[in-house]
Amino acid sequence: MEDCVFCNIINRTIESQILFEDQDLIVIKDILPKAPVHLLVIPKQHIISVSHLDPAQAGLVGKMILTAKDMGVKYGVSETGYKLVFNVGRDGGQVIPHLHLHLMGGKNMGE
Ligand SMILES: [Zn+2]
Repeated sequence: MEDCVFCNIINRTIESQILFEDQDLIVIKDILPKAPVHLLVIPKQHIISVSHLDPAQAGLVGKMILTAKDMGVKYGVSETGYKLVFNVGRDGGQVIPHLHLHLMGGKNMGE
């Protein structure tokens, strides 16, 4: 997707600090952090949102969550806890229409 910010980060058209990368996904910092640790786990495939997932992508979604778990350890919030959030569509507050998982921690995120 030519005009997708995340696709352009993945293909290096837009420069960004990529914290982790493998064949399926990347991890970057949220540019408008809502917590001391606020990371985004983003699949390389342009999937619009959770609403656009199909069952064949179950493994990819599982991998996103397990990568978030590893990032929680790496960024020191595993013991204190963190929040994992998928915003979906307009009313879900999804700003960029490319699937991503928010990891937020480093302060009390309880509600
Ligand atoms: Zn995209």
